[in-house]
Amino acid sequence: MLSITTDASLLNYNTFGIDCRAKTLAVVSSEGDLEELSRSGLLPSGGYVVIGGGSNLVLAERYEGTVVLMANKGIAVVEENDDELIVEAAAGEVWDHFVKGCVAKGWYGIENLVAIPGTVGASAVQNIGAYGVEAKDRIVSVRAYDVCEKAWVDFKTDECGYGYRESRFKHNEGKRYIVTSVRYRMDKTYKPVLTYKALVDELGSAATLDAATVSRTIEEIRWSKLPKPEVKGNAGSFFKNPVVSEAKFEELKKQYPDLAAHKVDGGFKLAAGWLIDRCGWKGRTMGSCGVYEKQALVLVNNGGCSGQEVRELAGRIAEDVKVKFGVTIDCEAEFVGFLN
Ligand SMILES: Cc1cc2nc3c(=O)[nH]c(=O)nc-3n(C[C@H](O)[C@H](O)[C@H](O)COP(=O)(O)OP(=O)(O)OC[C@H]3O[C@@H](n4cnc5c(N)ncnc54)[C@H](O)[C@@H]3O)c2cc1C
Repeated sequence: MLSITTDASLLNYNTFGIDCRAKTLAVVSSEGDLEELSRSGLLPSGGYVVIGGGSNLVLAERYEGTVVLMANKGIAVVEENDDELIVEAAAGEVWDHFVKGCVAKGWYGIENLVAIPGTVGASAVQNIGAYGVEAKDRIVSVRAYDVCEKAWVDFKTDECGYGYRESRFKHNEGKRYIVTSVRYRMDKTYKPVLTYKALVDELGSAATLDAATVSRTIEEIRWSKLPKPEVKGNAGSFFKNPVVSEAKFEELKKQYPDLAAHKVDGGFKLAAGWLIDRCGWKGRTMGSCGVYEKQALVLVNNGGCSGQEVRELAGRIAEDVKVKFGVTIDCEAEFVGFLN
């Protein structure tokens, strides 16, 4: 049933632990709830934001619109043959529960994405990625409600505009779509993806590996590097790794022989954490916000930090990186509710 609260606290709905208040909070538990919410006039263009687990957001002190919290549940096999199955999961399902449920049932393909916070719906919006796998590699289609047309739409993968942490749903035109479920293609036979060096170092040969072992190992590596949000508020990797031209890469490499980078389409991807670390930010704090002492890519809430403080710290870091290296780093985390 659609639940609507006014002047609601979002403290428990974002992993940074920011105490934002929303003018209206609508908790959506079904497709019918979303249609009802749309009819109620609480979804004016530019006047709402969708939240899943709030794990990639930095919230302002107040949001003067409607926060739509996706809480619909359900996982079902919709197609199956001898080798594969298509599994449909509701947007409000917790992503990590979905991954672990699939591994337990012998449905393979997303196990490297274990322990990423957030929801199934956001996995398709963000094109989440980790340890050599991206959501788009396995997404078959995305079902969404078009708030402008008040109609349901099914997008095939190649209509979703996927790129590195990118999709059509993240940008202006795409904000009209509220994702309600995602279909994933799963294999019945496990084929380990072991392209990530730290994983190979830990696990060695692929011959004897099973999906449960690989996903457990990934989870251990993950939490040895990142703070658990319930212990220290954070939004994961705060900045995207920037891609620079070959000429820029060569210029930097001459100056910094240990520059962390790898070749990608269109240039070289630099490790944003390395750039930030070299600017001396690792472990530093500014007010109640800081840079995690084990990983410079992660900003943390040291207790009672506001969204504005996070914004200021992120701005200072990006400025320093620009001045020292001549490279622009963009935020992966999204700012919500700030007026400018
Ligand atoms: C400790 C930690 C580790 C992380 N590690 C990784 C990682 O390895 N790889 C990675 O890719 N990310 C990582 N992240 C980032 C984050 O987990 C992902 O971006 C995740 O997909 C966000 O899910 P969410 O449900 O919390 O989305 P939210 O933060 O609530 O929202 C993110 C964006 O998606 C939109 N959105 C959410 N749900 C919907 C929907 N149903 N319909 C339309 N729009 C929607 C929101 O409006 C917003 O724009 C990490 C975060 C943390 C805190």
